[in-house]
Amino acid sequence: MNKRYALAIHGGAGVLARDRMSDDLEAAYHAALSLAVQAGETVLRDGGTALDAVTQAVCALEDEPLFNAGRGAVFTADGGQEMDAAIMDGSGRRAGAVAGILGPRNPVRVARAVMERTRHVMLIGDGALCLAREAGLPFEDPPYFFTEARRRALDETLALVERGEIDDDPARRHGTVGAVARDRTGRLAAATSTGGMTGKRKGRVGDTPIVGAGTFADNDTCAISATGDGEAFMRCCAGHEIHARMRYTGRALADAAASVVSGDLPRYEGSGGLIAVGADGDIAMPFNCEGMYRGWVIEGENARTAIY
Ligand code: ASP
Repeated sequence: MNKRYALAIHGGAGVLARDRMSDDLEAAYHAALSLAVQAGETVLRDGGTALDAVTQAVCALEDEPLFNAGRGAVFTADGGQEMDAAIMDGSGRRAGAVAGILGPRNPVRVARAVMERTRHVMLIGDGALCLAREAGLPFEDPPYFFTEARRRALDETLALVERGEIDDDPARRHGTVGAVARDRTGRLAAATSTGGMTGKRKGRVGDTPIVGAGTFADNDTCAISATGDGEAFMRCCAGHEIHARMRYTGRALADAAASVVSGDLPRYEGSGGLIAVGADGDIAMPFNCEGMYRGWVIEGENARTAIY
């Protein structure tokens, strides 16, 4: 069976409003998204697996300080940084996830180590860090992860909270990175990584590392990576819900994904979006907010990136 590969990536639904986006910054976002698409596509073009493709694409996004994951992760209310990540292999639904970690350069690689080196699905905090060391994964000192822009965002969020106002600026609140892929043999995979939401409570875990919420993959239906209000994605079990609509009602990928993003999420006051790839190689990237940093490629076609 030789199928066309397909890959989609996202850099989060927390896009800057158009009137605050400069030409230079917009170009920088497109360049960073292109690099991540290239990182994943190189694997697929060389006959590699969907799992390796999403790992490489997410590592590229984690290394880029423009996005809220790895380097450039947002700050918790008490000024710390706690990262969550997950990876899922659509073959046999193998999965690995980590939550509340700071130190490993690429949290998605720690999630993959959970999947490949343990009999568990999720490790948190110190236990996850211990595994990362055992696996020989690279660590960075705290200054590596620090960015002025994220620190400023925390100060603004804390000031809003102090005044009893709600922070409704997606650029400040949101961000996450993710990738979904189908390789030439028809295997699907998904990976997601995030610093979470600016000003979150210490210890808060979002949808990103929750299998069936922010990350999901099953070769028979779809691979999903989400971004947005994590609590809403968890409450509507977004990733699994899309899979279930495809599997039990025969809905097409685009229809199932749009119905969750535009129908279910708003019911739980959730803004955000997701990227999805189907067993047939279709790609869907619905969002219910101003934009979502994203990029995609289907074998034989040009890679593309978009923000709004
Ligand atoms: N979904 C992420 C979380 O709740 C944040 C985001 O994508 O904006 O942790």
